[in-house]
Amino acid sequence: MITPATAPAAPGTGVPWPPGLVPYVTRWSAEHELPAPVVLARGGGGTAFASEQLHDRDRHGVLWIRRQVHQGGGIPLFSKVHSVRQRYAMRRLRCQVCREPADRSEQDLLWLLEDGRADRPDWPEREVAVHPPVCRGGCVEKVTEQCPHLRGNWVTVRVREPVLDGIFGRLYLPGRPLPVPATKVTRL
Ligand SMILES: [Zn+2]
Repeated sequence: MITPATAPAAPGTGVPWPPGLVPYVTRWSAEHELPAPVVLARGGGGTAFASEQLHDRDRHGVLWIRRQVHQGGGIPLFSKVHSVRQRYAMRRLRCQVCREPADRSEQDLLWLLEDGRADRPDWPEREVAVHPPVCRGGCVEKVTEQCPHLRGNWVTVRVREPVLDGIFGRLYLPGRPLPVPATKVTRL
């Protein structure tokens, strides 16, 4: 929830960001990455946190950055997603804007995508999305008005078989004394 005490003024309005205006998955400026030194995992396979806790890794063994959860703190960073909320909404198929269950019929689920019809003839088959699905409670209209890269360039699609199959993250290379952060990669 956005609390008036911490919510700054929305541009041009002089009033705080109203609750519900900022999408659920959006990261806020006060949600900093927490320091967690990355070390070589025991046995030499991959990376680990020096003080790794059970919840730092998902069930696929992926190590997730530690980030503060302070929704409503600072200003919304509309081009960034919060990794915890994004994962939650993707895994539970919640609306990326309001966190309610995404719109689903018996056969399919509602998704909002950048219009890619010009990219390939069979689009959107096998399309990869980094944003969770949406509901039908007005969230499509809300997010397409806010989001500059979607404005005038979006479609909704019904997805029959959504599959969680990828991670976007930071690749580390072997280094001494510690692994060295390299590029950001997508792993399917
Ligand atoms: Zn919604």
